[in-house]
Amino acid sequence: MALELAGNSRETEQIVAFIHEHKSKQTDPFCAYLHHMPGLRTTANNRVQSLPEFCRLFYAVKANSEPHILQALAPIVHGFEAASLGEIVKIRQAAPDSPILFGGPGKTLEELEGALRHNVHLIHAESIHELNKLNAIAQRHGRMVSVLLRINLRGPLPAATLAMGGRPTQFGMDETQIGQVIQHVKQLPFLRVEGFHFHSLSNNLDAGEHIKLVQHYIRLAGEWAGKYGVELNYLNAGGGLGVNYADLDAQFDWGAFVSGLENEIRKDMRPETALLFECGRYMTAASGYYAAEVLDIKQNHGRHYVIVRGGTHQFRLPASWQHSHPFEVIPVQEWEYPYDRPAVEAVHVTVVGQLCTPKDVLAQDVPVKQVRAGDIILFRYAGAYGWAISHHDFLSHPHPGHYYLEPSPVSVT
Ligand SMILES: *Cc1c(COP(=O)(O)O)cnc(C)c1O
Repeated sequence: MALELAGNSRETEQIVAFIHEHKSKQTDPFCAYLHHMPGLRTTANNRVQSLPEFCRLFYAVKANSEPHILQALAPIVHGFEAASLGEIVKIRQAAPDSPILFGGPGKTLEELEGALRHNVHLIHAESIHELNKLNAIAQRHGRMVSVLLRINLRGPLPAATLAMGGRPTQFGMDETQIGQVIQHVKQLPFLRVEGFHFHSLSNNLDAGEHIKLVQHYIRLAGEWAGKYGVELNYLNAGGGLGVNYADLDAQFDWGAFVSGLENEIRKDMRPETALLFECGRYMTAASGYYAAEVLDIKQNHGRHYVIVRGGTHQFRLPASWQHSHPFEVIPVQEWEYPYDRPAVEAVHVTVVGQLCTPKDVLAQDVPVKQVRAGDIILFRYAGAYGWAISHHDFLSHPHPGHYYLEPSPVSVT
């Protein structure tokens, strides 16, 4: 079973062939997101199939909520995690019957109503006020609503790029308030607590640490369930499985993670408890690419700048995380213009977009053999938190193409 975080070379070859074919048909500079759909399905399938039977894998749609992605994943994953009513609606359009988990701080009355209307399976409650609101709505609908209590644990927790828990944040309820929260929710007759939700970090690269974290969750949830007499039908361990953008060959070790679930976690699970994961980045990053044509190359204060069509208004991830995003140069031989073709060889380049801000940097000081105007910069691992988190209309440049490569490619522009 191919369990590595894909980005494999056959897939990349197909993407490159598609770019060449497409670029030759258009006069505008090439700029597009490309999704390798068979790659996405195969990886998702392998992950779901390899999990022990007490686990469920949900897709956290905020990483990439494009309809094609949701439709492709719907028959594979156990369900979806939504963070807004808008996401719930998108999921329902792609997957009318899939289980949905609904979380996130500051849920409005309208969103909670909408969640019931769209048959959300579990709601992650983030505060006592939210529990009160939800109970009132459930009462109005005359039905019981199942909730998981989202808990922000006291640290220290393993390090990762983003920490939602183990430190002060707007997420979840403080671990030290758990007794008080459960006492309170027991007074709310329309709510049924079915377990706990933890999503403490994002982009964790260490499978062993992640197993330890899940073990910690299981131990605490078991203690609370016993001490306060609540059901433990679900323990949601969140997402946060990472992508190593700095070293593509050292990815999160899924095989070790699954072994950890079998060998370290299984023995601690109660028979009635399902262990849920709601992964975003780890599901869609690898099969997505952002391809941008080189418009100009210049030297400024001793540095080489490669300016591409597009930029961080379309692919904000590297600016948001202040990292240099991995890319390769796809050479394009044709040059049909009567003037010189800008080019550099054997230098370090900084790849930037077309925005009027020095923050519009996609990759920094990266050695390249050769790059010329008209070549394509192909950014890998761009399928999650790329287009989805970007401010598309800043500067009003045209949007990139969006291509979903199937045996016969589907294009949405
Ligand atoms: C964003 C988010 C996820 C997904 O996180 P990844 O790091 O992309 O796996 C899961 N659960 C919650 C509550 C989230 O906010």
